[in-house]
Amino acid sequence: MRAHNFGAGPCTLPLALLEEAQAEFTDYAGSGMSVVELSHRSPQYTAIHREALSLAREVSGAPDDFDAVVIPGGATMQFAMIPLNLLGGERRRGAYVVAGTWGRLALGDARRHGKAYSAWSGEEHGFRKMPEKGEIELTPGTRYLHVTSNETIGGIRMTEIPESEAPLVWDMSSDFLTRPIHWDRTDLVYGGVQKNLAPAGMALVFVRRSALRDVPSHLPRFLDYRWYAEKDSVGNTPPVFSIYMMGKMLKLIRNLGGVAGLERRTAEKARMVYRVIDESNGYYSNPVDRRHRSHTNVVFRLPTSGAEERFLERAAAMGLVGLKGHKSVGGCRASLYAGLESESAARLASFMEDFRTKNS
Ligand code: PMP
Repeated sequence: MRAHNFGAGPCTLPLALLEEAQAEFTDYAGSGMSVVELSHRSPQYTAIHREALSLAREVSGAPDDFDAVVIPGGATMQFAMIPLNLLGGERRRGAYVVAGTWGRLALGDARRHGKAYSAWSGEEHGFRKMPEKGEIELTPGTRYLHVTSNETIGGIRMTEIPESEAPLVWDMSSDFLTRPIHWDRTDLVYGGVQKNLAPAGMALVFVRRSALRDVPSHLPRFLDYRWYAEKDSVGNTPPVFSIYMMGKMLKLIRNLGGVAGLERRTAEKARMVYRVIDESNGYYSNPVDRRHRSHTNVVFRLPTSGAEERFLERAAAMGLVGLKGHKSVGGCRASLYAGLESESAARLASFMEDFRTKNS
């Protein structure tokens, strides 16, 4: 039986894509080799690579003055590359919105490198909301404002684009392509691919070319965005399997109506689960300010930790897995990424109703 996988990443991928990959795995396009054995300079792989990156541009709607690149190492690598590349010019301060664990970690890595500060923090409120209008405070010399569009652990979503004199840098790891990107206010967008787009191993990054004018010359090539752009992300051997699967996933997203289609589908899946929470008379609870509830990571608690344990056990027995909350906060979390079928969200919602009826 195939699991309904609500894990926060690596994510579930649609069965049809896995089967397609399986069917072509041992002999890709008549090469006599699998995709993971082909030379990354071969015509077959080059076609896969170019198509995946061109689909990334097309589906995201990236303007011509942005480069689209893939970089090994996931989003954590970007926590380092962003300050290394962007804090070289006159404006040397990186501002960070800290609305959860990931914003805090991004800020921590930026501080190791240079001048970075928290422009807003939700920590004292226990990470339940995003900043309100006018609450973000930037100091002079700020090069960028880094925001996490969706805090994966707290299940908090930035619904409004923050006001900022500095260009925005977005960590969209957990809601990449499930919402429009505000290109005109943005210098860089990135996300680990393992939630909405592909198997783990890299980040997809869009960067405005003019933002790379002051990259320090001492950076090793591997840490320099310009190298990825110049070499079309094949300066060295890239994570070929992730890129190949990302191409398939992007094609599927395009067929689902692109970002607008995925946004609708994701909101619909989230509605199914929040409805059960809100109509449970407090049996299930979600701590997040309603306006900032995540569409991709729905967190919830049950009345006791014993009930949560039984819930997770019963769910797993029904094939609903990956529902345990992050270890730092406990409770439960349903991740509803692009690859998760609506049918899986519907099953979860109905299981939750059933469990409450039998246990409350
Ligand atoms: N940012 C966010 C919002 C995340 O959810 C995660 C991973 N859960 C990361 C960054 C770190 O990503 P990676 O594991 O790709 O380094």
